[in-house]
Amino acid sequence: MLSRRRRAFHLRRVMLAAGLWMKLRKRRRCAPTSRQDSENPLLTATKKGSDETMDVEDVMDGAPSDDNFEPPQPRGPVRSRKPPTRKPGEEGDTLPSGPKPRKIQLLRSVFEGRPPVVLFSYTQACCAEQRPLDRAVPADEDGPRMFYSHTDAIHQYNAVINILRHGGLYRVRAETNRWTVLWSLHPTPEQLQRFSPVQRANHFPGSYHLGRKDLIWRNLAKMQQRFGKEYQITPQGYILPKAFLAWDAARLRQSDALWIWKPCSQSCGRGITVLSSDVPEEQLRDLAKKRGIIQRYIPNPLLIGGRKFDMRIYVVVLSYDPLKVFINDEGLVRFATELYSDAVETLQSRMMHLTNYSVNKQNPAFVQNLDGQGEEEKEDAGVDEAGQPKASKWSLKELRIHFARESLDFDALWEAMKDLVIKTLISVEEPLKADWCKTLGIEDGGWSARGPGGAHRGSCFEIYGFDILVDRSLKPWLLEVNICPSLSSGSPLDKRIKTKLVADVLTLVGVHPPAALWKLSPESVHWPASGNVSPSDDNEAAAGCLISEDEMRKRALKLVLGTLFLVQDQLYLAGQSPQEAVSLFDEVAWELVVEAHDQEMRSGGLEMAFPCPNGSRYVQYWGEESYCNLVLRKWQEAGGDAIFRSKKLPPWVPRQVCFSKT
Ligand code: ADP
Repeated sequence: MLSRRRRAFHLRRVMLAAGLWMKLRKRRRCAPTSRQDSENPLLTATKKGSDETMDVEDVMDGAPSDDNFEPPQPRGPVRSRKPPTRKPGEEGDTLPSGPKPRKIQLLRSVFEGRPPVVLFSYTQACCAEQRPLDRAVPADEDGPRMFYSHTDAIHQYNAVINILRHGGLYRVRAETNRWTVLWSLHPTPEQLQRFSPVQRANHFPGSYHLGRKDLIWRNLAKMQQRFGKEYQITPQGYILPKAFLAWDAARLRQSDALWIWKPCSQSCGRGITVLSSDVPEEQLRDLAKKRGIIQRYIPNPLLIGGRKFDMRIYVVVLSYDPLKVFINDEGLVRFATELYSDAVETLQSRMMHLTNYSVNKQNPAFVQNLDGQGEEEKEDAGVDEAGQPKASKWSLKELRIHFARESLDFDALWEAMKDLVIKTLISVEEPLKADWCKTLGIEDGGWSARGPGGAHRGSCFEIYGFDILVDRSLKPWLLEVNICPSLSSGSPLDKRIKTKLVADVLTLVGVHPPAALWKLSPESVHWPASGNVSPSDDNEAAAGCLISEDEMRKRALKLVLGTLFLVQDQLYLAGQSPQEAVSLFDEVAWELVVEAHDQEMRSGGLEMAFPCPNGSRYVQYWGEESYCNLVLRKWQEAGGDAIFRSKKLPPWVPRQVCFSKT
C-alpha cells in the first residue's frame, strides 16, 4: 500500500517535471520583448496570464538551483482552521504549496507605537549569513494570507520567487489586485491607478530615462553643461546619427583618442565596437546613419593582474521625493579574460576590452568563483602567485581585500561611487516626476500626484545595477545603469549576493501586513496603547502624501525662513546647534524623519547613501529643493539618528525603543 502511494507520488513528480520542461522549452522559443540587463538575456514574453498559478521553482537561472524547493502537493486544504476563500487561478487551487502553510515573520519597528513590516529573512540555501532576528515576531498563524504577483512579462528569478515564498507570501494573478508586492515590468496607467496605499511595485514608471544609454547621457549632459567638471561622472557621449558632426569634429581634434560605439537599447555587449579616431571612410558613412551612442573610451582602466574589470553596484531607490537611496555593500567585479592593451590593433578583441560576463564566459580561460566553498574568506584568495585574479568574477569584498593589500584607498573610492550614484539619480528626477504624473493622468501634480486607489510617491521602488569602471587615478566612471539587473543565481557567488539583496530590499521597502495578522499580540509589535494610529494612517503619512503640493511648499518656506532667520541673527546662531532648524519641524516633518530612520534601521546589507550628513552639497543640483528633501537634510545635519536619543523631542514624536540595526 505504502509503496503504491510512493510510486504514485514519484509518478506525479515525473509528470510535473515533464510539464515544467515543456513550459521551459516553450518560453525559450519566445523572443525577448524589451531590453534587460547584460547578464539577463532571458526576458521572456509568454501568453498573458498563462502560468500565473505556478509558484514552483523555475530552473532558468543558468543553474538549476533549488532553494527551498517545495514539491507540489496533491489538491487539498492547506489550512485546516479556515475554509479557503481563493478564487480559481490563484495559488493553492491547482498547486497547493505543501503540507505546511507558509509562515510570515514580522519585524517590529524601532519606534514605539508603529506597525511592523513583513520580514524577508535569507534562505538557508543562499548561504548568506542571517541578519539579526531579535526584532522578529511571528505573525498570527490564523490571520489572513498575504499575496504577491509575479507576471510573465519578465524573467522569473529564483532569488525573487524564493524570497517572496520564504517571506510567507502566496502568488496570485496581477489582475486580482489582492497582492501587496507586484514584481513585473513598469506599472501601466491602469495598474497604477488601481494601486491601494499598501501595494508596492518593483518599478517606477519612466525609469527608462535612466536605463536607456542615449537618455541617461542626455540627462547627465544637461547637468554637465550647468555644473561642469563636478558632473563629469560618465565619459563624453554623442547620440548618433544626430550628433554625428559634433563627434566627427571631436574625433579629428583628438586624434589619439579611442571611442566606443553602443546600440542604445541593447545589452550583453551586443553590437559594441571599440574604435580609434582614425576611422575608415566606409565605417564613418555607416556610423553617420546608425542609431546608437558613441562614447569616449576610457583608455587607462585600473588593472588587476594586467586585466580590465568593471563593477556591478546594486542601488535601491525607495522614492525620488524625498530621494532615498541605498547601496548594497556587496556587488560583483567582472574581469576581462584577456590581458589589457590600449594598442589600436587590439581593439577588435572583445574579451580584452569588454568586461561583460556574457562575453567572457565564452573564453575557455574564464574561471568560476569558488565563493560558497570558503575560498572568499582567505585574505589572499583573490590573486594567485603571479598576481592574476584566480576567478573571472569577484565579490566586492574580494576587491576590498585586494585594495587593502595593494594599499589602495577603497573607502575613498566607495565615497566617490556614492557621489556618482546620487548625482545620476538627481539628474533623472525631473523626467521621472513627469512620467509619474503622466501615468496617473494628473498634469503638474508633481510627486504629490496620487492615484484614485491610493498610489503615492512611496508605492514604487527599484533595484538598479550601476556599471562602474575605475581608472588608474581611482576615479569611478559610470558606464550605464541597468533598470532590470540580472538577479540570476548561476553560481554560488551570484546566488548568495542576489538572494540576500532581494530579501534586504523587500524588508527595507516595508510590506505592511494587515492588522489582523498581528493585532492579537499588539504588545509584541508596540501597538500604541492609545490606539490612535492605524497602519494605513501610518503608511500614508510616512509617504508624505496626506498634504498637497501647495501645503508642502508653504511648509518648506516656513522652514527656509526659519533657517534664514537663524543665519541673519549672527549672535543667536553662534550659540545654536543645527538642532534649531529641527525644532521648527511639525508632525508631518517628523513623520518623514521617523519613517526614514525606521527604514535605515532595517536595511540589512544596504547602506543609506541619501539622505546623508553632507547632503547640502547636492541642493544646488535640484531646480528647487523639495519640502521632503529639505526636511530629511535638516534632520541629517542635525545629527541624524542621534536625535532620537534626545530627551527633548516634541510629544508627538514616537519614542525610539530599539537601537540595534537589522
Ligand atoms: P552593455 O549594456 O552591452 O553591457 P556597457 O555600456 O555596459 O554595454 O558596455 C559593455 C562593456 O564595455 C563594459 O562592461 C565595459 O567593460 C566596456 N565599456 C563600456 N563603455 C566603456 C567606456 N566608455 N570606456 C571603456 N570601456 C567601456
